[in-house]
Amino acid sequence: MSDQYKFQDPAEQYQKATPEFKQQQTPPGLETEMKPRPDDGSATYKGTGRLAGRKAIVTGADSGIGRAVAIAFAREGADVVLSYMPEEEQDAKEVVKLVEEAGRKAVAVPGDLKEEKYCEQVVSAAVEQLGGVDILANIAGMQQYVKDIADLTTEQFDATFKTNVYAMFWLCKAAIKHMPKGSAIINTSSIEAYSPEPILLDYATTKAAINTFTKALAQQVASKGIRVNAVAPGPVWTALQITGGQPEEVLPEFGAETPLGRPGQPAEMASAYVYLASQESSYVIGDTLNANGGMPTP
Ligand code: NAD
Ligand code: MG
Repeated sequence: MSDQYKFQDPAEQYQKATPEFKQQQTPPGLETEMKPRPDDGSATYKGTGRLAGRKAIVTGADSGIGRAVAIAFAREGADVVLSYMPEEEQDAKEVVKLVEEAGRKAVAVPGDLKEEKYCEQVVSAAVEQLGGVDILANIAGMQQYVKDIADLTTEQFDATFKTNVYAMFWLCKAAIKHMPKGSAIINTSSIEAYSPEPILLDYATTKAAINTFTKALAQQVASKGIRVNAVAPGPVWTALQITGGQPEEVLPEFGAETPLGRPGQPAEMASAYVYLASQESSYVIGDTLNANGGMPTP
């Protein structure tokens, strides 16, 4: 954990990966069982009322980037609907507690985003239990590496697209109907959209689709007063990576390829989502904010 407000060398702000980073869990994994624990910002993040009274949906809110974003949104004054998978209850319980400790409402809605019905239920939960929705942060994602296209099954290709692309489409479609002017949608892309690793054929392709979807939808709904943007993280230390997102043997060097030479932490992603959700980014539309430790992007 590190204080994100202290003036310091960003390369030194968090540890580089070590042999200790080599670990495996079955997907979706539990952050509570990771060593070292990713920094979710809970020990340090200070809200300044930038999302006061807002009503947010955060997918993948139990762990990793979604968890850090849910905590930051709550501390900025937003009530939050938390989407995650039923197997992740242990992680989600902690996030519910952190949101409530920030004095905000937390509505837990576990389920499978590969189902359109569930995506609609997530939006309904916000409308019914928060009284509306004005922030949609699509952060859930699936990443399973496969070295050879011959071994990439149709089932996996389909599941990766359902989770990363279809769920975003279904959630946007259901939420926009309810969103007042001033609302914001933030999708989650990746460095993989521009520099795809060969072992992430399906995943990287979904991330490029997310960038393009973001740009197209942004133009469509700007006149409704809704802004759509994306965040594109680089290598971030989360459960995604230790549950088949990367081969286990590369984890001791995870993030070493970035100019900062270390992995990012979820806490370093949260402020990007807060910025794009808040009125401070009023003239930023259809953009992708890269938070990747310095890797060049188009
Ligand atoms: P994470 O495993 O902590 O979070 C991903 C979450 O997605 C899970 O907690 C789970 O709740 C949710 N999810 C997956 N499949 C689901 C399903 N079928 N139904 C409901 N929920 C489902 O990992 P993370 O790294 O924080 O991932 C968050 C986002 O960040 C993803 O979109 C990922 O692609 C993106 N991203 C991560 C990295 C990285 O290096 N960690 C880099 C670039 C982009
Ligand atoms: Mg999780």
